[in-house]
Amino acid sequence: MKTTAPRPKPRPHVKGTTSPRDSWRVQTGEAILRTLGSTPAGLSSAEAATRLLNNGPNQLIERKHISRWRIFASQFNSLLVWILIVAGIVSGFMGQKIDALAILAIVILNAAIGYYQEYRAEQSIAALRQLTAPRANVQRDGQPQLIAATAIVIGDILALEAGDWVPADARLLETSSLKCVESTLTGEAEAVTKHSDVLKSDLVPLGDSSNMVFMGTSVAGGRGKAVVVATAMNTELGRIAGLLTETGGEEKTPLQQRLNSLAKVLVWSTLGIIGLLFGLGLMRGTKPLDLLLNAISLAVAAVPEGLPAVVTVALALGVSRMARSHALVRRLTAVETLGCTTVICTDKTGTLTLGQMTVRALYVSGRHYEVKGEGYSPQGQVLFQGKPTATADHVPLLQLGEGLVAGNYSQLQQKDGVWSLMGDPTEGALLSAGIKAGANREQIEREWPKLGELPFDSDRKRSSITRRMPDGTCRLFANGAPGPLVGLCTQVYTSTGVRSMTDEDRAHILAQTSRMAKQALRVLASAYRDLAVTPAPAMNPEEAEHDLVFVGLSGMYDPPRPEASVAVAKCQAAGIRVVMITGDHPETASAIAREIGIASPAGHTLTGAELEKLTEAQLRKQAADIAVYARVTAEHKLRIVRAWQAREAVVAMTGDGVNDAPAIKGADIGIAMGKSGTEVTRQAADMILTDDNFSTIVAAIEQGRGIYDNIRKTLQYLLAGNTAELLLMTLCLVLGMPIPLLPIHLLWINLVTDGLPALCLATDPIEADLMKRQPRRRNERIANPKFVRTMLLTGLLTAGVTFAVFLYGLRTGTTETARSSAFTVLVFAELLRAFGARSETEPIWRIPFFSNINLIAVVVISLGLQVLSQHSAVVGKILNTGYMPLMDAFGLLVIGAIPLGVLELLKLRSKR
Ligand code: ADP
Ligand code: MG
Repeated sequence: MKTTAPRPKPRPHVKGTTSPRDSWRVQTGEAILRTLGSTPAGLSSAEAATRLLNNGPNQLIERKHISRWRIFASQFNSLLVWILIVAGIVSGFMGQKIDALAILAIVILNAAIGYYQEYRAEQSIAALRQLTAPRANVQRDGQPQLIAATAIVIGDILALEAGDWVPADARLLETSSLKCVESTLTGEAEAVTKHSDVLKSDLVPLGDSSNMVFMGTSVAGGRGKAVVVATAMNTELGRIAGLLTETGGEEKTPLQQRLNSLAKVLVWSTLGIIGLLFGLGLMRGTKPLDLLLNAISLAVAAVPEGLPAVVTVALALGVSRMARSHALVRRLTAVETLGCTTVICTDKTGTLTLGQMTVRALYVSGRHYEVKGEGYSPQGQVLFQGKPTATADHVPLLQLGEGLVAGNYSQLQQKDGVWSLMGDPTEGALLSAGIKAGANREQIEREWPKLGELPFDSDRKRSSITRRMPDGTCRLFANGAPGPLVGLCTQVYTSTGVRSMTDEDRAHILAQTSRMAKQALRVLASAYRDLAVTPAPAMNPEEAEHDLVFVGLSGMYDPPRPEASVAVAKCQAAGIRVVMITGDHPETASAIAREIGIASPAGHTLTGAELEKLTEAQLRKQAADIAVYARVTAEHKLRIVRAWQAREAVVAMTGDGVNDAPAIKGADIGIAMGKSGTEVTRQAADMILTDDNFSTIVAAIEQGRGIYDNIRKTLQYLLAGNTAELLLMTLCLVLGMPIPLLPIHLLWINLVTDGLPALCLATDPIEADLMKRQPRRRNERIANPKFVRTMLLTGLLTAGVTFAVFLYGLRTGTTETARSSAFTVLVFAELLRAFGARSETEPIWRIPFFSNINLIAVVVISLGLQVLSQHSAVVGKILNTGYMPLMDAFGLLVIGAIPLGVLELLKLRSKR
C-alpha cells in the first residue's frame, strides 16, 4: 500500500570473503585496540575529531547536493517559460522594445521568486534529513554518547543493543546474547549469534564472521561492545556500494505527479484552442504576426505559471511547521497520506501515558502493601494496613525488594535534590520500589556480582539477571509480565519457606494481578531461580528462564497524558478511529483506554492469545469493534494493520521496539518514537515523534489535512483566474474584436497579481473546522466535479465583468483606454477574490482577516502598483496602461468586487 519505491535489495554476498589485509577476526580485542590506538573507554573527542577530518565522514555515497545554480536553471525548465521568451523576442522584432524587455524582466522575476522559494524549501528539507539520519551510541571521553552515524571513526567503541543499526564494521569486544540480522549483506533473514572470541581463520565467509558486526545490519537482541575497524566505503557494505543506487533527491509525491499531468493536459488543450483560433484568423485574413502574438497571449493566459512552486512551498513549509511541533516527516509523500488517515493504532505506554511510572502497590506472600512517594525518588514508606512496615515482621517484603533491585538494569541519580532515571521507566519504578522495600543497591552490586543478563524484549515480556550469591551459588532474578512469568514458575516463595506451586496458587496470583490491573496499575511479577554454578549457566531465555520460584507482584501507575483525551476527542470529531495496541495486561489497558476515552465501558478488549485464534477474515470483520488490543506481540501488530487495510482504511501505526519495524513498514504511515524508540524503527518510519506523544500524531494529521487544503484552494484560485483570462480572450477573438489584454498584461496578472497571492494562500493558517470534517479519500482527485464547477463559474463571472468593462471602454474611448480599464478591473477582481479563496466553505467575514498578513501586504502592494501605473509615465509604459482618474479606478474596484460577492453569497447558500 506504500507509495514509496522499495529499497533496492543488495545481491546476496554469502560466498565473498574479505581481503586478507584485515586480520581482525584472528586477533584479540586488546591487540586490535592497541593497533587502532583506542581503549575500552573509547577515543577522546579531540582524537575523534582529528580522525574524522583525516578520513572523512562515515557515509557511503555523498548525497547529491543540489546546487543553487541547478535550482535556478530548473526554473527555466518549462515549455511555458520558453513560449514567453519567444513572445518577448517576437515583440522585440515587431518594434515593441519595451514590451520585449518587460516580458523578459517578468520571466526573470518569476524565476527569481521560484528560485528563492524552492531554495528555502530544499534547505528546510535538508535540515529535516539531518534530524532523522541514523545515529549510534559510542563511548567517547569515557562517556556514552549518542552521535550521528556519519561522525563515527575507526577506533570508536560502539555500544550496541537490541534495535540498533550497526553504523560501521566493527570487531566485538564483549557480548551478552548478541544477535544480529545481516540480511542486507548475506540475504539471510534469520538472526545470527555473535561473540567476541578469536576466530581460527580470517578467511571465513561474511556470514560466519561471528566476532564482527557490519555496517547496515541491525541488532535483533542482546548487547555488545565493539571497536570500529572500517568506515564508509571500506566497510563490507561499502564494497558492494555500487549496488546501492540511493534515490537522489526526493521522489515526487502523488499530488505533484497528478499536478504535473494536469499541467500537461492544460498545455495541450491550450495548444489545441490556439490552433483553432489561428486557423480562424487566417481565414479572416489577419496578419500572421498579429496572430502569433495573439496565440502567445492565449498560451500565457491558459497556463498557471505559479503552480509548481506553490506545491513545493506548501509541502516544505508544512513539513517544517510539523517539525517545530515535534513530528519529523521522513518522506514528503507521507504528508499527503497523513491527511487521509482513518485509523491510528497507538502504543499505550509513554505515548498515551506519560511513561513516568511509580509503584503504588506490592503483593508478596499473601499480603498487599501500599507504597508512598512520588517520582523515581527511592524515598517513601511502604505501608501495610495503613501502618509503616518494620522489615523484621516483613521478611518477604525484603525478599521482593531484593529481587526488584537485583534484576534491574536501570540507574537512579540524584542531582540538586531531584531524582532522575537512566534506563527504562518500568525498571526505574521497580528499582525505586525495591529500595523503599528495604533492599540496598550498593550492597547487592558489591556482594552479588553480575554473571549474565537477558535484557527485556517485548515478545518475552520479561528481563533477567544472574548473580553470584555470597554462599557461592548462582541465582537468576526475573521480572516481567505476570501471566507469562507465572507460567514458568513451579514453586512459590512464602513467609514460611519455598513450596511447590499449586493450581490454586496460580489462580490466586492471577486474581491478585487482575485486581491490581483493574485500578489501571501496570503489574509486574518477580521470581528467581537457583542455578548450578558449574557448568556456567547458559544465558539464553529457553535454558535459563524456567522452574522459577514466584515471589510477588508490583503494581505501578503511569498516568495518562492530560492532552491525550483531548486529542482522542478531536479524532472522533475528525472521523478517525483510535486503536490502542499494548503489551500490557488487558485490564490495565482497558482501564486506561476508558480514562482517555478510547474505549466505551462495554468495549471489547482482544488479547494476543485470542487474536492468534482468529483467521484473517475473522479479524478483518471484528477489527471495527475492537478499540484495545492487549498482551500482543510485534507480529500481531502487522496483522492488525493488514486487517484494517483490508477494510480500506488508511492506517497510522506507532512502534518503538526492535520487532516493530515490519508493522511500521506495513502501515500507511509508520510512526517511530524519537525518545524511547530504537534506531531500526526510526529508519523504517515515515514520521518520527520527537516527544513520543499521541497528541503530536493528531496535530500532524491536522497539518497534513491543512497542507492539502491549502494546495487545493491555491489551485482553485490560480486555475479560476486562468479560466477567466482564457474565456475572455477566446470570446473576443471569436467575435472578431481587438484582443482585450496584451501578453504583458496577462503575464503581470499571472505572475504578480495571481502568483504572489497564490504563494500566500499556499501557506495560509489551517482552517478551524478542519478536524470536524471526515477524512478525505486517498484516491480523491483534487479536480472533482465541484472543483471544476466552481472554477468555471468563477471564470465566467470574472470574464463577464471584464468583458462588459472592455465593451463599454470600446464604445466610449479608444482601444487603448478600453484595454487599460479591462486590465485594471481584472487585476482588482483577482486581488479581491484572493480573500474569498482562503476558504471553500466559510464566507469571507468568518475567516480571521489578519491571520494571513502576507496576503494583505501582497494585495495592498499590487493594488498600489496598479494605481501607480495609471499615474506614472514610466510604470504605465512598462505595463502598457494609460492615465485613469482615481474615481474611475475606484469604480472599477467596486465592479471588480462583483465576482467575489457572488461567490460568497453562493457559499452561504450551500452552507444552508
Ligand atoms: P507496552 O509498551 O505496550 O505497555 P511492552 O511491550 O513495553 O508494552 O511491555 C509488555 C509487558 O512487559 C508489560 O506489561 C510488562 O508486564 C512487561 N515489561 C515491560 N517492560 C519491562 C521491563 N523493563 N522489564 C520487565 N518486564 C517488562
Ligand atoms: Mg513499551
